[in-house]
Amino acid sequence: MSATMTETLHIVGGGMAGAEAAWQAANMGVNVVIHEMRPKVETFAHRTGHLAEMVCSNSFRSDDDEQNAVGLLHWEMRAANGLIMATADKHRLPAGGALAVDRDPFAESVTAALMDHPNVSVEYGEISELPTEGHWIIATGPLTSTALGAAIQEETGADRLAFFDAIAPIIYAESIDMDVAWLQSRYDKGETEEEQKAYLNCPMTKDQYEAFIDALLAADKTEFHEGETAGYFDGCLPIEVMAERGRETLRFGPMKPVGLTNAHKPDDKPYAVVQLRRDNALGTLLNIVGFQTKMKYGAQTEVLKMIPGLENASFARLGGIHRNTFINSPTLLDDQMRLKSRPNIRFAGQVTGVEGYVESAAMGLLAGRLAAAEILGKPQDTAPLNTAMGALVHHITGGAEAKTFQPMNVNFGLFQPVEGLKGGRRGRKDRYKAYTDRAKADWQAWVDAQA
Ligand SMILES: Cc1cc2nc3c(=O)[nH]c(=O)nc-3n(C[C@H](O)[C@H](O)[C@H](O)COP(=O)(O)OP(=O)(O)OC[C@H]3O[C@@H](n4cnc5c(N)ncnc54)[C@H](O)[C@@H]3O)c2cc1C
Repeated sequence: MSATMTETLHIVGGGMAGAEAAWQAANMGVNVVIHEMRPKVETFAHRTGHLAEMVCSNSFRSDDDEQNAVGLLHWEMRAANGLIMATADKHRLPAGGALAVDRDPFAESVTAALMDHPNVSVEYGEISELPTEGHWIIATGPLTSTALGAAIQEETGADRLAFFDAIAPIIYAESIDMDVAWLQSRYDKGETEEEQKAYLNCPMTKDQYEAFIDALLAADKTEFHEGETAGYFDGCLPIEVMAERGRETLRFGPMKPVGLTNAHKPDDKPYAVVQLRRDNALGTLLNIVGFQTKMKYGAQTEVLKMIPGLENASFARLGGIHRNTFINSPTLLDDQMRLKSRPNIRFAGQVTGVEGYVESAAMGLLAGRLAAAEILGKPQDTAPLNTAMGALVHHITGGAEAKTFQPMNVNFGLFQPVEGLKGGRRGRKDRYKAYTDRAKADWQAWVDAQA
């Protein structure tokens, strides 16, 4: 292989992550080739051949960089001269505190900026094998082509690549009413106290259960896209589909009340129990066990707040089920986002198990910079833990539970606590400000060190 070939950075996929990775590496002086399969090979969700096409909503969510973790990620990307953010700002549409954009001009502008960059070229065509040589970033997103998916699966093992995202809602632990809920594993199973108290239980009376089933049946749901369900339904049924199969189905499934004693009212036998389980090592986030759902977001919060103990729940992310190809990053990637078994290949974007345009672009930004630094012979530490970028990359490459790994949005539950600040809801505003102040300083220092 020629010298130029090994020094070039090849990026597979010119979506949110691939486009941002290319921009960052090219600006650091590295030659980049983007390999994009569209428009030659299409997906069911993309409509154009543009790079960085937004496939569904046109929102980059909150732009509040003091009180919101996504807004903080915006800030960090802007501070690193991010192409996706600069272009979004240019094509911004009025949307209150959110950053919504005019999608077609946005994608056209990103494409033009990359095409015009002297260090970037774009080759249209599908990559169907994992490359053995050279520097590569795989950023093929939730709709990674079938052939490449099979090649990834062959390298990583069949159980390390998922094709569906079946997310149960994730709740901030601090927002749960512990006067109602209690910690206990079914039949107190486990060797240690931690294992015996691994689940958080929310009890329901018969009336509460019946009202909950009625609300589930009546709730607004989203539909699957054509061809999206193939191979999915065997795995995990949405709770509303279970409820449709029979009013008792959930009570014999994820809501079964057996092996549990209400710590607050030991003599009351609950009619049904909703269980939550730790979703991150910090224990700040909990997922509702077996509660994957296709309910629309508004309906979801309403219905789930009917669960005793969750009346004031704050959601770190809501549930959903859709076609989504992603790898088990906690076991497969190092903190430089390199595939441990083939360190010449990095992964970036939604295929790493982050979720959303912003998070995907952010992981592209990081992978592009880390890859370029390595090619230039000046390897760089990964993003600092206390930044939004760092919290996210540490979550997917280690902080998340590998066994139950599901894609994650950026949120403050991923952040290390700031010492000496009040917990709970009342201290939230000060706490979030402290997180974002700390993150900005650490991120700026990291960016400056690369300049
Ligand atoms: C139906 C649907 C709706 C969604 N709605 C939203 C939403 O409303 N808001 C939100 O924030 N996120 C949404 N997402 C998630 C969104 O797709 C991602 O957040 C974001 O686009 C991911 O960026 P990415 O760069 O990782 O992947 P993408 O933006 O999808 O880019 C990946 C690129 O790789 C290309 N590619 C795939 N395989 C190959 C191959 N073998 N060779 C060459 N090129 C290849 C694809 O053509 C694509 O251009 C949705 C996803 C889907 C599937």
